[in-house]
Formats: sequence, C-alpha cells, structure tokens
Amino acid sequence: MNNSLLIVEDEPKLAKLLSNYLRQAGYEPVCLENGLDVLPHVRVEMPALILLDLMLPGRDGVDICKDIRSFSTVPIIMVTARIEEIDRLLGLELGADDYICKPFSPREVVARVKAVLRRSTEQKPPGVPPLLQLDEDRLQVTLRGHELELTVVEFKLLEFLSATPGRIYGRNQLMDHIYPDQRIVSDRTIDSHIKNLRKKIAGVSPDAEIIHSVYGVGYKYDPQS
Ligand code: CA
Repeated sequence: MNNSLLIVEDEPKLAKLLSNYLRQAGYEPVCLENGLDVLPHVRVEMPALILLDLMLPGRDGVDICKDIRSFSTVPIIMVTARIEEIDRLLGLELGADDYICKPFSPREVVARVKAVLRRSTEQKPPGVPPLLQLDEDRLQVTLRGHELELTVVEFKLLEFLSATPGRIYGRNQLMDHIYPDQRIVSDRTIDSHIKNLRKKIAGVSPDAEIIHSVYGVGYKYDPQS
C-alpha cells in the first residue's frame, strides 16, 4: 500500500509539525517548500495524497493543482490561510478533494487525510490505472500527462493489455487480437511492436515500466510490479 504523502508548505515549523503527526499516524510524509518542485516530485514519486498550501514561493497552489489534475487523480487537500478563500477556490473547480483552513489542529488534518484517502480508494474502480488514459476515437494515449505517439498496432496492444492489469497474454493471443483476419505473421512481429511500444513509453517516462515480458510465455501490463 502506498503510504507516501506530500506536504507542500513553506512554513518550516508547520511542515514539521504536520509531518510528525502524519508519521505517527502511519504515513510517510515528504515536505516541499517551493511550488516549482511539486510537479517533478509528483510525476516521479506518485504520492498517495498531497497537502497543498495555497500561497507558496515559486508557483501558487491553484496553478499547481490545475497542473496535477492534467495528468493525475491523486487526492489533493488544499490548505489556505483565509476561510473566505475557500468559496473562491470552490468556484474555480480545481478538482481538489478537500479544503482546510489555517490555523488548524494537526489532529484535524490527520482525520481529513484519512477520510479523503478512504473516499478515493472506494471510488476508484479496481484495475483502472489513473495515469494511463486511452482515447480510442483519436487513438491518443496519455501517460502521466505525456502524449504518446503510437501506431495503430501499438495502440491496440496497449489498450488490450492494460484492460486487464496483471494478466499474462501469450504471443498468439496478442496476434489474434491485433490481426483478427488470421493474417500470417511471425511471432516476432509482436515482439518488435512491444519493443517499440516500450521504447516510446520509456521516452516520455523512463521509470514507467508498465509492460513486462514474462519469460517463455508472453507479456503483461502491470504498473505495480
Ligand atoms: Ca504559505
């Protein structure tokens, strides 16, 4: 289970206090002070939840929240110093999951974090990876917010494999799916398509190993392993 939390807070004392409480509650918090550091961190570390202060050096919380939502559904709790601000934030429809106003008690924050995480795991249908988005009509794939330029065959392979994460498919099964007209193609055709697909994935997100070869059997899509 992913217990990592990202605390974005430019008041070091407050960040430390929150971090201590959250660690005691069983989470693994990481603190960032500068708004510019948030996106790179989120893309690589994929925290389970983000506590995001509104006023930050570098880049403000509203812009950061919008950016994150363009590629991820990670739960976000916005933290603001003014209660009046919450109405304005709600009006912006940023896609944040909750709002907390300063000053807060760390206990309250822990309770909110738990509640948001509970809700988000209940809502997510199992097996649907939020980081991979496939648009069948346009043959477009977005991986962690990066667009992948795939051929039709590569798209079909990725779509087919990612529909059932963890399930292993043999080359023949994949060929039947890609070439339903029984065209005679060699086993190696699939291998080379997979190879190209992986190369493209690594090109936009080097740490995203989502397609695995299973020795002697075939391939599987598995973002977890
Ligand atoms: Ca601040």
